[in-house]
Amino acid sequence: MNYNYYSDHTRFAPSPTGYLHLGHVFSALFAYEASKILGGELIIRIEDIDKQRSRSHFEKSIFEDLDWIGIKYRKIIRRQSEKMSDYEAAIEELDRLNLIYPCFCTRSEIQSEILRAGYAPHGIDHLVYPGTCRRLSKNEKEKRIKTNKNYAWRLDIRSAAKKIGKLSWHDIRLGNHEVPVGIIGDVVIGRKDVPSSYHLASTLDDHIQRVGLVTRGEDLVESTHIHRILQSLLGLKTPFYFHHPLILDSSGVRLSKRTRAQTIRAMKARGLSPKEVINLFGKKNLLSLLSLIKKN
Ligand code: GLU
Repeated sequence: MNYNYYSDHTRFAPSPTGYLHLGHVFSALFAYEASKILGGELIIRIEDIDKQRSRSHFEKSIFEDLDWIGIKYRKIIRRQSEKMSDYEAAIEELDRLNLIYPCFCTRSEIQSEILRAGYAPHGIDHLVYPGTCRRLSKNEKEKRIKTNKNYAWRLDIRSAAKKIGKLSWHDIRLGNHEVPVGIIGDVVIGRKDVPSSYHLASTLDDHIQRVGLVTRGEDLVESTHIHRILQSLLGLKTPFYFHHPLILDSSGVRLSKRTRAQTIRAMKARGLSPKEVINLFGKKNLLSLLSLIKKN
């Protein structure tokens, strides 16, 4: 396969909702080494649209950890919380195209409607939305928009499907993927109070920041289908992807902030050197994955 990257840059996009752990370092180092192979830069993006959970001391510690490991990156940082107007404009565009609708349902309303309808939740978003608010009349929608303090914007996947036809994207490790439009639900892409979901912000930012190769953990493969749909609807560039395996703990469970995986900070405090931290997942593992990345 001939990889014609539209740009040579890669990115690392952490959420400042906790301290970095070994999985993050693997991911960041992977993106950094990949940018070197391509001859571009590593771009850092702070994904802090979740204001409830994002903290500035976590952001500070992310940069301290990256610097300590020896990862070099572009000094201009994009912070999603400062770019809300970009996401708002995309929501307006999708609204103008009649591809989204406001949803006033609560999570439990969605759950009970699914049970009533007699089918088990399945599909990419786990809880496939049954489409209650898609069926509201224009008048009813307008009325509720005026009286509801908050609501979500959902992608009308049926209308989108008519517009986009067949779509695919390419992962350097996992191969070609066709977007399974038929099993994707009407995902939430924004809210009235926060005009973006992870999906919309991440897709738009990868385009704005000119990321030619998106590298991230393989737990996000399914999200990439939604990102590919948004690229098509909004006329954005489609990068190449590399979803890498996740770093697991000794009992085979993926590391996460929620399970209080060992943080890099804690390792540093225990006196480990950057090299010793990298040895915990093995530079060899990283290099053998990186060998799949070719510049044309
Ligand atoms: N902000 C996401 C996280 O920290 C990363 C998403 C991505 O790389 O697209 O899990």
